[in-house]
Amino acid sequence: TIGMIVIGRHGNVAAGTSTNGAKHKVPGRVGDSPIAGAGSYADSTVGGAAATGDGDVMMRFLPSFLAVELMRSGMEPSIACKTALTRIKTHYPWFFGALICANIKGEYGAACNRVAGFSQFSYMVSDPLTNEPLLKKVDCF
Ligand code: ASP
Repeated sequence: TIGMIVIGRHGNVAAGTSTNGAKHKVPGRVGDSPIAGAGSYADSTVGGAAATGDGDVMMRFLPSFLAVELMRSGMEPSIACKTALTRIKTHYPWFFGALICANIKGEYGAACNRVAGFSQFSYMVSDPLTNEPLLKKVDCF
């Protein structure tokens, strides 16, 4: 999956995800990617979030929507990402998943659930001011 959050020149926020369809593709499977609030969510007055991982589990918790709502209430992006994933982890400790979050101030972060073979998540940040894409890594919790 490729997930993206974009803050446009005029302050509009967009978020979206592609999907690899996950493992064991079932004909007709939808997954989390096209579901607003699950795979991704954006609000131009707050910011955006996008998810990757076990979509069939994650989509039940609308983690992207939750992260944006947490940022709306003032939480910084990396904590909002982590808090949204913690909600899932409470029910599914071993789910595979990560979330990226960005707010309209230009702050951003990510979080991932630590499971065997997945201890760090990498993501890219592109800022027109730095003119150079940055590779970021976050340790899973
Ligand atoms: N979340 C995607 C899905 O379940 C898969 C992925 O993120 O790799 O369709």
